[in-house]
This record gives sequence, structure tokens and C-alpha cells, in this order.
Amino acid sequence: MSKFFAIVPAAGSGSRMGSQMPKQYLSLAGKPMLWYALSALLAVPAIETVTVVLAPDDTCWQDFDWSGFGPRLQVLRVGGATRAASVTQALEALKDSIGDEEWVLVHDAARACLLPEQVEALIATLKDDPVGGLLAVPVADTLKRADSVGRVADTISREAMWQAQTPQMFRYGLLLRALTATGGVTDEAGAVEALGMPPRLVAGDITNFKVTYPQDIALAEMLLRARSV
Ligand code: C5P
Repeated sequence: MSKFFAIVPAAGSGSRMGSQMPKQYLSLAGKPMLWYALSALLAVPAIETVTVVLAPDDTCWQDFDWSGFGPRLQVLRVGGATRAASVTQALEALKDSIGDEEWVLVHDAARACLLPEQVEALIATLKDDPVGGLLAVPVADTLKRADSVGRVADTISREAMWQAQTPQMFRYGLLLRALTATGGVTDEAGAVEALGMPPRLVAGDITNFKVTYPQDIALAEMLLRARSV
């Protein structure tokens, strides 16, 4: 049986959050944001290791105590200029530990409200899939494309539109080949699509949103606090 490995790119600066501290370390309900994504992934017994990818000049990681997570949590300081570069460099660094046919789940550090059940559902759906896939949600709102002055340029049909989330789950060999061959993608699925392979959409839910803007912090805290009571 193939094994499962998780990679959490956490080398971004979080510029849309507008804070000095990289957003993955901002406090969420008393813990650094990154703690929650690591905790959800490590709560899934099928996952062998969770590798967090930091920027080489990260000075925040050492300010927190991560020892409670134990040896299944690994740290690589190989983050790059883009998310795709951070993931590619981590995959290259792990080449002696992960076989080409084994599964890699890539998850955003900023998706703090991920539940272990959502990861289990993704693994159960995709473990025999020829391509792999991702958690996603069907778009509920009508979509508008903006012009350069903030007016509606046109309306885009929401039919068959999905919002991509993470984890995104692909076999190690395919994922590294796809990311190496393709530039400018904002997620792993985009790189695999560019090779002509269609990733499977696995329905998740909106609670697994990406904490991106300052107002998202309060929403994430509400969710996390409601779960801990
Ligand atoms: O910026 P964005 O929210 O799209 O980032 C998604 C994830 O990718 C975050 O977990 C972020 O830390 C990570 N990232 C990275 N290296 C970069 C840019 C983003 O690891 N250069």
C-alpha cells in the first residue's frame, strides 16, 4: 500500500494581511496560526510525516515550542520566492524519503480550520485514483469580473465552478515532474492540469477557508473556539 506524506508550505510573507509578522505566526485563539494546520494533519494516523517548509531566513519558528507534536513533524528551511518554488524545493529535499508512487498532501499553513475528517475523506476518495485531486467547494455566489476602476466588467456563470482548497494530493513523482515543468501556477493541481491530467475535485466545505485578510482572523477564531468547547 502506498504511504501518505504531508507538506505544509509556510514560507510566505502574507502581504495581504498587512502585518509585520508573517501571517502563519499570527496569534489565532492563543496559538500561532500554523499550529492548527500541523495539528489537523498530524491527527490523521495514515500520514507518516508532516514537513513544514520555512523561509531560510525565518526567525519566528524558534519562538514557539513545537515539541508536543513529536518526531512526525519535520522542518525544512528551503522555502522559495513562490509557493510553487517552496513546494518544489521541499519535494527535492525529500527525494530519498518518499517513493515516486507515494502520495503527497500539500496543505496551506493559512488554512487553520482544516479538520482531520476532511483529510481522511480526501485520502479515502483518492487513494486509488490515477491522477490525484484536491478538496474544493462548489461556488455559491454569482461571480463578477472587475474592470480597472472597480466596476463590473462582466458576469461569469457559476455553473460548474469550484473554489480550490488544500490539501491537494498527488503522487510524489507526478507532482515533482509537474511543478518542474510548469511555471506560474498558484496550486499543485494547476501544475498537474498543465500536463494534461485532470485532478479530481473532492467536495469539502467552506470552513476550510484560507485566512488571508485581517477580518478573516476573527472568523477563524470563532470557528476554532466553538470546536474546543
Ligand atoms: O500567499 P498565499 O496565501 O497564497 O500562500 C499559500 C501558502 O503558501 C501559505 O501557507 C504560504 O506560507 C505558502 N507560501 C510559501 N512560499 C512562498 C509563498 C507562499 O511557502 N514564497
